[in-house]
Amino acid sequence: MLPSDEEREMLRESLRRLLERLWPAERAIALAADTQAIASIWHALAEQGVASLGRDPLEGGLREITVALEELGRAGCPAPLVGAVLVNMVLSPLRSSSQETDDLLDALHRGDATIAFALGSFDGDPCAGTLRWNSDRLQGCVDFAEGCATATHVLVLADQGPLLVVVPRGAPGLAIEETPGLAIPPLARLTFDCVAAVPLAISQQLAEDLHQIAGLALLARSLGAAQRGFDMAVEYAKERRQFGQPIGRFQALQHKLANALMSLEAARLLLNNAARSYDFGMDNWRVLGASARAFAGPSLRRVALEVHHTFGAVGYSEEHEAPRHFRRIHADLARLGGVRRAREQLAQALLDQGQALPEQDLGTAGNAFRVEVRDWLKDNWVPESREDEIDRPYEEWGYDTRFTALLGRKGWNSLSWPSAYGGEGRTPREQLAFMEEIQRVGAPMGGRGDIQAHALMSFGTPAQKAEFLPKLARGEITFCLGYSEPGSGSDLASMQTTAERDGDEWVINGQKIWTTAAEKADYMWLAARTDRTAQRPHAGISLFIVPMKTPGLTVRPSMAMYGHTFCQEFLDNVRVSAHALVGEVNQGWTILTSALATERMMMGSFIANARAEFECLVRCVREVDDSLQSGRTDGAVRDRIGALAAQVEAGRQLFMNSIEMAEKGKAPIHEAAMSKAYTGELMEQLGQVSLDILGAAATLSKGAHGAVAAGWFEQLLRFSIVTVIGGGTAEIQRNLIALHGLGLPRS
Ligand SMILES: Cc1cc2nc3c(=O)[nH]c(=O)nc-3n(C[C@H](O)[C@H](O)[C@H](O)COP(=O)(O)OP(=O)(O)OC[C@H]3O[C@@H](n4cnc5c(N)ncnc54)[C@H](O)[C@@H]3O)c2cc1C
Repeated sequence: MLPSDEEREMLRESLRRLLERLWPAERAIALAADTQAIASIWHALAEQGVASLGRDPLEGGLREITVALEELGRAGCPAPLVGAVLVNMVLSPLRSSSQETDDLLDALHRGDATIAFALGSFDGDPCAGTLRWNSDRLQGCVDFAEGCATATHVLVLADQGPLLVVVPRGAPGLAIEETPGLAIPPLARLTFDCVAAVPLAISQQLAEDLHQIAGLALLARSLGAAQRGFDMAVEYAKERRQFGQPIGRFQALQHKLANALMSLEAARLLLNNAARSYDFGMDNWRVLGASARAFAGPSLRRVALEVHHTFGAVGYSEEHEAPRHFRRIHADLARLGGVRRAREQLAQALLDQGQALPEQDLGTAGNAFRVEVRDWLKDNWVPESREDEIDRPYEEWGYDTRFTALLGRKGWNSLSWPSAYGGEGRTPREQLAFMEEIQRVGAPMGGRGDIQAHALMSFGTPAQKAEFLPKLARGEITFCLGYSEPGSGSDLASMQTTAERDGDEWVINGQKIWTTAAEKADYMWLAARTDRTAQRPHAGISLFIVPMKTPGLTVRPSMAMYGHTFCQEFLDNVRVSAHALVGEVNQGWTILTSALATERMMMGSFIANARAEFECLVRCVREVDDSLQSGRTDGAVRDRIGALAAQVEAGRQLFMNSIEMAEKGKAPIHEAAMSKAYTGELMEQLGQVSLDILGAAATLSKGAHGAVAAGWFEQLLRFSIVTVIGGGTAEIQRNLIALHGLGLPRS
């Protein structure tokens, strides 16, 4: 059995303790320049089994390897683990084939051997050099070799075969020249002048896989360094005072740190996902690995910069920890072809080999439900104006009573509800499967009333539950959300609409605005002020169910940019019965914020939409004649496709993370905020990049001569802004991340 999550955490803990003891932060720079110190930490790590990682997946697979490298990166310790991993992976299956191999492995696992490595023409960097195998001798020159300062052996790849060769450091004809730079200890140039060696023929695939594994290992190390720098910066932001307050209270800084947290979390999730797929023997680990590297490159480098910006001058001193992490992050992420190589790998998979982004593993039940929903949609969702398989008309997105009733008959309007209320009690993963499939084909989601149903289940009276839940489940009624007011958007608690008790009735006066599809709804889920004297504005709000046909309620629709309506409502002495109140008087804020939290989490599911748009873009690029601009042979297009693929994958991981939190019964406050903010902005970016890649044709609407993908891109571009503003703007999400995810003071 593969090691468990708990065992991985134990490994992390024990390595952290060991490194804190033997490689303390205050001495890390001096120790890294001391070959004796590196040799002795390597022995200590070997005693913990670290030098054997990669030998047997049951003892520790790629996930354990990345944990160990994260800890080394965090401690600023250059112990030569990457070379050891490569040797273990290739030579361990050959144990007992030769005495030399056995001796090398034994010495490595004891901590007596240390391996430098350079991948030559498999490095991914065009300047890495090449080695040739001529008449039983190695000849050539390779750059960017890591771990030479203490190495007893060097591992290299030579062109013909390919061949993997492990050469003792003192082999006649091998010259090692340090090439100082950002990396500490420095990388080196290896010159082989007729060096005698015993080569091992390996497959092209294995050579490419070793490159990928080394790349993920370096990513893990830079992630550890980035996380450490970031943790220190956040603590500093809480303590350092300027202008009479902690600098962590300045929103400019909060939002940069919130962005950095998103980057770190996404990079970690991508790395874990790729390593997990590798450990489980899934082919998709290569695409997932390339996604992790393509995403992490620019993101973690940005984190390193923000760390420095937060520290100001104090972090610029070489005595501070920040510079060593800055060097490590930049040196590691530029290696092995860096971001460009990873993006090109993705472009090859998607554009040349016609692969799709890997399906998310939603577990047995989730995967099975995905297939069920997909099959059902084939029979039940056929947009009338469909012209080809990528035509999904966004004008029809939203409320579609016919379709909602169909979902009701199937029981899927209430799939997330507990069975006590007639629901299917589906897990968050199954709900995700449903949302992904619905969004993949652009079927309508609006009007299912999940927000109201869940709030009613928690706060409604028995009569309200009996009246509304069955109708919502059958898709017979729809609600609109009456929260926003002309003066109250993000600051909802400042709302001015009032509800006053008059006998058995409530009398509501005020104005609501931006209400989606109010003109089609049967009821408004309305928030109003019921105590004008409450000391905290949140404390005086209550929630009501208001039938849209109630006298005094006037609806004035206007057209929103995405081709849908939103409305203004004027409430002039609107009288509703006392039974219209949901929950207790003045309890509205609790109901409203728990509903907003659900909405925030669900808005992350727009990542399924982003994925569909991205896949449509890939199809369009594939179909463009290669002789034209924007064809799949255009290097700039390939680079952007690779970058976007990684970003979409990152968004999927962030969303999955908040789903997993919910599954564990924890409220994913800042996790959902990260997923929501990231996804919305990615949607916008997808829209923008589509125009860059496809040009003016992508701005044409459905039906226009020359329109691409039946006008889908221009529709989505217009729509994308909603995903940033709706459900709490991206800035509000960042405020939440700063407060709940980083513990920074309220700005
Ligand atoms: C298509 C669409 C449909 C909608 N449907 C509904 C609906 O059905 N029901 C409903 O009630 N509402 C709805 N809304 C309204 C939506 O919830 C609000 O637009 C949103 O909450 C933002 O409020 P606002 O537009 O007033 O912007 P404002 O709150 O005025 O914000 C303007 C800018 O200031 C920034 N800002 C505000 N406060 C802060 C802060 N504390 N820190 C940093 N930056 C800040 C915002 O991020 C934004 O960039 C809809 C909006 C759209 C676009």
